[in-house]
Amino acid sequence: MPRPHARSSPACAPNPAGGALHLPDATAGNCRLFAQLLRQGTQAGGVQFAFGTRVARLASPPMGVQVHGESGTRSFDAVVLCAGAASAALLRPLGLRLPLAAVYGYSVSAPLREELHAPVASVVDSQEQITITRLGQRVRITGGAELGGQDAAHHVPTLQQLYRTMNEWFPGGALLSSGLQVWRGARPTLPDGAPVVGASGVPGLWLNTGHGAGGWALASGCARAVADLIGQRNPDINLDGLGIQRF
Ligand SMILES: Cc1cc2nc3c(=O)[nH]c(=O)nc-3n(C[C@H](O)[C@H](O)[C@H](O)COP(=O)(O)OP(=O)(O)OC[C@H]3O[C@@H](n4cnc5c(N)ncnc54)[C@H](O)[C@@H]3O)c2cc1C
Repeated sequence: MPRPHARSSPACAPNPAGGALHLPDATAGNCRLFAQLLRQGTQAGGVQFAFGTRVARLASPPMGVQVHGESGTRSFDAVVLCAGAASAALLRPLGLRLPLAAVYGYSVSAPLREELHAPVASVVDSQEQITITRLGQRVRITGGAELGGQDAAHHVPTLQQLYRTMNEWFPGGALLSSGLQVWRGARPTLPDGAPVVGASGVPGLWLNTGHGAGGWALASGCARAVADLIGQRNPDINLDGLGIQRF
């Protein structure tokens, strides 16, 4: 059985699919660590965060937000809505319709069991839509796609499929019996798969949401583009087709 990916992941078992694409420029990162470092860096630059604060309602005009538990609204020159799956509900009272659906998936982070048997980079099983990634002393296995509420119970067959796929590709590479971190998260998805990035049509309200399965990969570029728009600069990337008017 050919193993064209053997250089990037030498521990990989003989490929059940019989072939693979090797993407030498692809990289994997730890998005949690990225977010923490971003927070530290921006706080050092004067940015203030209000963690544990829920926006009850967007107000306009003037542009502002009403925070849960407060009677008044806080006014801002610009508000960027990036509330993931909750974005559509926040827009609705302003008369804006966003056909957003949350597609839930799972991420399992498992301790390394035997380094020699673990991946050194990322492997995507495109048939199962499961990604196996080496993150330092852990292996992260992600996949699954389900609709349903945010608080739904974990779908055990999906998790079992993640473990099975891990064992097929990298037998013995990760410890799957203990020390697991299992996360169920949303991919806020729009019908055409692209996000909404740019002006909302409501003065002072900007949109940056609906990034589906690629929200982290797109985060920095989209944030840069929205910041440019707010600052009345031309974004480096072409935002045609990413407006809310397309819905
Ligand atoms: C299993 C899985 C694997 C994934 N893998 C990748 C990957 O490899 N690469 C990649 O690029 N993307 C990946 N994604 C997709 C990525 O996680 C999402 O696209 C991204 O998280 C969307 O970011 P967001 O900020 O728009 O929404 P979210 O991450 O959902 O964040 C929205 C935030 O808004 C807050 N919020 C909501 N309502 C309110 C309110 N009323 N008041 C205050 N705060 C509010 C929420 O608490 C939350 O913190 C994956 C997703 C899943 C589920």
